[in-house]
Amino acid sequence: MSTHEDVGIGDFVLLDEISHERVVENLRVRFNGGKIYTYIGEVCVSVNPYRSTNIYNSEYVEKYKDREMFENPPHIFAIADAVHKEMKQQGRDTCIVISGESGSGKTEASKIIMKYIAAVTNLEGQQEIERVKNILIQSNSILEAFGNAKTTRNDNSSRFGKYMDINFDFKGDPIGGDVTNYLLEKSRVVYQQKGERNFHCFYQLINGCNESDLKSMRLVRDPSSYNYIKKSSGNNQTTTVDKSDYKAVVNAMSTLGFTQMESQTIWNIVAGVLHLGNITFSLNEDKVNINDDKPLKDAAHLLAVDPSDLRAALIQRVIAAGGEVMQKTHTLVEAEYGRDALAKAVYDRLFTWIVSRINGTINVTSNNLHKHQRYRTLIGVLDIYGFEIFDSNSFEQFCINYCNEKLQQLFIELVLKQEQEEYNREGIAWQNIEYFNNQIICSLVEQSHKGMISIMDEACLNVGKVTDEVSKKKLLYQNPNMLLEAMDKKLVNHHHYTSRQLKPMDKELKHKTQFRIKHYAGDVVYNISGFLDKNKDTLFQDFKRLLFKSRNPIIEKMWPEGAQDITKTTKRPLTAGTLFKNSMIELIKNLTSKEPFYVRCIKPNEVKSPVVFDEERVTHQVRYLGLVENILVRRAGFAYRQRYDKFLKRYKMISQYTWPNFRGKTAMDGVKMMMDDKGFSNDVQYGHSKIFIRSPRTLFALEKARSDL
Ligand code: ATP
Ligand code: MG
Repeated sequence: MSTHEDVGIGDFVLLDEISHERVVENLRVRFNGGKIYTYIGEVCVSVNPYRSTNIYNSEYVEKYKDREMFENPPHIFAIADAVHKEMKQQGRDTCIVISGESGSGKTEASKIIMKYIAAVTNLEGQQEIERVKNILIQSNSILEAFGNAKTTRNDNSSRFGKYMDINFDFKGDPIGGDVTNYLLEKSRVVYQQKGERNFHCFYQLINGCNESDLKSMRLVRDPSSYNYIKKSSGNNQTTTVDKSDYKAVVNAMSTLGFTQMESQTIWNIVAGVLHLGNITFSLNEDKVNINDDKPLKDAAHLLAVDPSDLRAALIQRVIAAGGEVMQKTHTLVEAEYGRDALAKAVYDRLFTWIVSRINGTINVTSNNLHKHQRYRTLIGVLDIYGFEIFDSNSFEQFCINYCNEKLQQLFIELVLKQEQEEYNREGIAWQNIEYFNNQIICSLVEQSHKGMISIMDEACLNVGKVTDEVSKKKLLYQNPNMLLEAMDKKLVNHHHYTSRQLKPMDKELKHKTQFRIKHYAGDVVYNISGFLDKNKDTLFQDFKRLLFKSRNPIIEKMWPEGAQDITKTTKRPLTAGTLFKNSMIELIKNLTSKEPFYVRCIKPNEVKSPVVFDEERVTHQVRYLGLVENILVRRAGFAYRQRYDKFLKRYKMISQYTWPNFRGKTAMDGVKMMMDDKGFSNDVQYGHSKIFIRSPRTLFALEKARSDL
């Protein structure tokens, strides 16, 4: 409890009136006063300050280390400490779920938490633990280089989801970890919206590597020379940052023990993708032709494949029909589609390979440590792409926003529902709080048969197998109406779904291909063109065989399915939508099995300013994050609750019955005597293991009594 706060109120449950206006006002007062953290009980609300602050230094670490949350002003360190303590003392696996929209500060929060944990552990300075800590922290710069990009909402936007488990030994020191990555937005490799960039690594490489590497990768320092990054070169004014980031990434790779061969392969693939993007096609007497051999040769060189094999895979595909193998030449559209699909897939595999390579390093170290330990607990840190709305929203936003629905659902389950269950468990009388349950939107997306992902999958099936003689139109799913019709038919009465066909008069739905989902965090209009394509995620077999044949053993290993015999019919792979859905369900299951802590991030304005507090935008976030409901549930008539032992420890000195001699038998006895003695008993209820205090005034009075001594 932070009664020592001078700016606004440090814990929302202590507001005398709970309303959206008051909550936003308190956030504003605190933001303007430089206080970016505010609690709702054990939930930490964080407002992005958009400036560097000096509140994460070692002085602060000392201040929050091994303290209770109420002893200091609100800070994310206190959450990190509580999580670590819970794990260490109770031996429970814990997790920190960081949520909020794009640019609200999730990734920064996750890094601050990791740095805090690193700062308060390994007091004996064991070398191997130091190594683990180093790896955990340094891996961030590598993951961000390859998985983050500038978007219109955030200059360093995570374009992949990241969940990191950190393993601890019985002393509470980190001895290992494991990163799980979720759906990378690979479409960015070949296309970026106006004002956005490709993944950072492309610019880092071009601006940062030395002349001889540049030459050996056959690159020039000019981003406008490459189709895949050309568009963004206009707003590419960050070359100095890219340059120094490149160095940081190279250093991190060496800290993590990437071999020379491994890091060279990584950069070769990045360069190879750029060259792939410069391969263009034209029609010559109805046959697809590659215009210029140079990028083809350069790409082949960097991917360590034969240029003639790459050419063949780009202009035709091998199909097996009735046991016979034959070649089918691509149309122009197919060739261009194939090239982009190849670039995306190569990059996506690279990213996944990097994640597993990082895990490999952490685990080599931790295996040494595990030898002596049987007892291990975990802290999970989830930092995933935030809810986003762009001018044009596609399949990626659909997945990202669905993911945020799932996290909101988890929050409802664990915080709103369980909180109310605590009252039941403790035998406390309470009043039910109404809240919007977004389960209905989760179902809209994920339900079997009737959900949007199922409908998409079914539509994909209907389009026919890629290896079939299908028309170019069908193969490329250029007719999105079919899917939209299927959705309309099944979802016609769903309150959270609508399309242009269903609501022709709706002004927001301007195009035939648009549909809208009413998300918990706001309405999003999606454009269905490309959905089926991205869901099916076709990559011609020829490319898989090509890369499997790479002379580079690392690349070969990234493409094991290339070994498959062409005449064997392969099982239909799961669609991107279904894979994503399954990974989300798995993630939620994992989080549910742990003791959760929450950081709710808020974006104060759209202009990245440290001084602008946009009331309207913040109100919107406060609403959809359900903060008011959270506060109400948390209070449900009780502003504060605490375990008897902890409560007694803090206030025992105020009563003659508990200090200096303790006259009770149990902590509960002691608390009751103390509260009776001080005349506070009317305002409290005694649960089975905790005391519940109704009014914030009682708490202030207790604090005052304590400080007046
Ligand atoms: P996305 O969903 O797009 O990945 P995010 O929620 O992860 O967004 P961040 O990348 O963490 O957002 O934050 C965006 C930017 O805001 C940072 O690059 C940084 O400039 C600033 N920022 C965020 N949190 C802090 C902080 N605690 N202190 C200082 N600056 C911050
Ligand atoms: Mg992020």
